[in-house]
Amino acid sequence: MRIDMHCHSTASDGTDTPAELVRNAAAAGLDVVALTDHDTTRGHAEAVAALPQGLTLVTGAELSCRIDGISMHLLAYLFDPEEPALLAERELVRDDRVPRAQGMIAKLNGLGVPVTWEQVKRIAGDGSVGRPHVASALVDLGVVPTVSDAFTEEWLADGGRAFVEKHETDPFAAIRLVKAAGGVTVFAHPAAAKRGRTVPESAIAEMAAAGLDGIEVDHMDHDADARTRLRGLAKDLGLLVTGSSDYHGSRKTVALGEYTTDPEVYGEITRRATGAFPVPGTGGA
Ligand code: AMP
Ligand code: ZN
Ligand code: FE
Ligand code: FE
Repeated sequence: MRIDMHCHSTASDGTDTPAELVRNAAAAGLDVVALTDHDTTRGHAEAVAALPQGLTLVTGAELSCRIDGISMHLLAYLFDPEEPALLAERELVRDDRVPRAQGMIAKLNGLGVPVTWEQVKRIAGDGSVGRPHVASALVDLGVVPTVSDAFTEEWLADGGRAFVEKHETDPFAAIRLVKAAGGVTVFAHPAAAKRGRTVPESAIAEMAAAGLDGIEVDHMDHDADARTRLRGLAKDLGLLVTGSSDYHGSRKTVALGEYTTDPEVYGEITRRATGAFPVPGTGGA
């Protein structure tokens, strides 16, 4: 069983449509793929409709959170997408991404970069708009050579010259909301230092005590030392350990299934979830 628990589509800042994503996941030899777009479940229906035989879809989202001024991502799996309190919080975060992107564009204009909201909007389509879309516009304008080169102090990194904060949920509130909606939570790439300050282990311990289910350990942004340390922490705190690609199509270099999750951990996640169930593929459209 090959299981990839963290992927993005055009419903947020990935470049595969949800239908393309599930077809590519099957072609990559995956048995299970999770669709975890930033702050939205909007891609799920299309992914289900296109789901190939032999591939199982785990529905989810990657929730934008902040603790003590540090941004962090919380993967939420198999929650009830209609549960009103979690739905309202997702909408709040997702909707705030629009004025926030416009604020970053204004800052870029102030720095002499002629990027426009129309241009970024065209790139984002109806997806949850984020910095990678703005970064793609900067690549198109020849300001930076690649999307990842836009994530520097000079441009869009946390605290960078053109950075603007968005509304982000307190992770303890997010854990409570996801649980109340029948879902399971995994702290995404907790040691991804190149993205900015990381959350201290003491706070991860508090989250574990508050019901966090797991941490993502095998991820491209974690080196061998970070993985060893996180595995030890998970053991101490009784947390599940996952691995995943965090695939974004052509906006990142990582391949689908490049990192995977142990089938036993996947089984435990599905046993804990009561809000939704994994969807087996029936052939697709
Ligand atoms: P946002 O949610 O709009 O703040 O954008 C955050 C997203 O930008 C993350 O989920 C990643 O997909 C991407 N990102 C963050 N840091 C980097 C980086 N250093 N290089 C490339 N992409 C990044
Ligand atoms: Zn992303
Ligand atoms: Fe993330
Ligand atoms: Fe992600």
